Amino acid sequence: MTKPSSAPLAVTAHVTASIVPAVLDVIGQRWSLAIIQALLLEDKSFGQLLRELHIPRSTLAARLKHLQAMRCLEPSPAGYSLAEAGRALLPIISLARAWDVSLVPETQGYELIHCCGERLLPLLVCRHCAQPIHVRDIQLGAPAELPRLGDLPKPLRRSRAEFSAGEPLSATEILGDRWTAMVVALAFYGVQRYGDLKRHLSIAPNILADRLLRLCEGGVLLREGHCYRLSERGLQLFPLIVALMAWGDRWLRETGQTQTGLRHRPCAQLLEPELRCGCCAGWVDLQSVQGTGFSGPNKSA
Ligand SMILES: [Zn+2]
Ligand SMILES: [Zn+2]
Repeated sequence: MTKPSSAPLAVTAHVTASIVPAVLDVIGQRWSLAIIQALLLEDKSFGQLLRELHIPRSTLAARLKHLQAMRCLEPSPAGYSLAEAGRALLPIISLARAWDVSLVPETQGYELIHCCGERLLPLLVCRHCAQPIHVRDIQLGAPAELPRLGDLPKPLRRSRAEFSAGEPLSATEILGDRWTAMVVALAFYGVQRYGDLKRHLSIAPNILADRLLRLCEGGVLLREGHCYRLSERGLQLFPLIVALMAWGDRWLRETGQTQTGLRHRPCAQLLEPELRCGCCAGWVDLQSVQGTGFSGPNKSA
């Protein structure tokens, strides 16, 4: 979006107005996205979720309650079903999975097949010009208004990030830890210097150092002195961040209007993303996909 050399304070308005932290309060929890993913195509009971996801019973109960309070889930005869806001998380879930699978093809998870018959290769495009969204095509527009959020319950207390050194860093892991996700989001705003990150996040130095190390080890950031640049793989997270912002704008802001504050250079319109199939370019929603069940060698991780 902006070069790291640009004055970081110029983006403060964007960062503070960003909806990303609010979105992370809803889905930025270990297991939250996994629960949504498990319910994408069919309603499930508490027991089914417990067996499929291998989550401790109390954690599952707490996450379900929270997601219900956040209006992503609702009770159904079978147990739980996705509410409209939960179903609208499809772009985030499919983009996160595609990012993981691009590095580790055998990544476990729920496979989706598009109605064209191909495995879903999700592509986030600009609604106005239908071009795929790349960070190099984005300009910061006028800062969005400070988010006026609807009446939402308090976020859950976060558990400590559980990173396993040496293992590939997954998109779910990035989104599941608020600080890690915020460091990535800020890097897209051009906030890439250690001191600037620390100031923007008001974060303890040891926590920031820990997250930066994990993001460097995971190949998302490249360290150059005191500056942390997004790698090619890190840059590929941009559509996911845009999808997060769009979801938050639609479902968390009181006004419910899209205001990512980003402009798409190719068409000069304010950026409004939509999800398309990378194979047939067709529209992707829950009606146009079907599942093949859980894939992957190990269900318990
Ligand atoms: Zn466009
Ligand atoms: Zn397709």
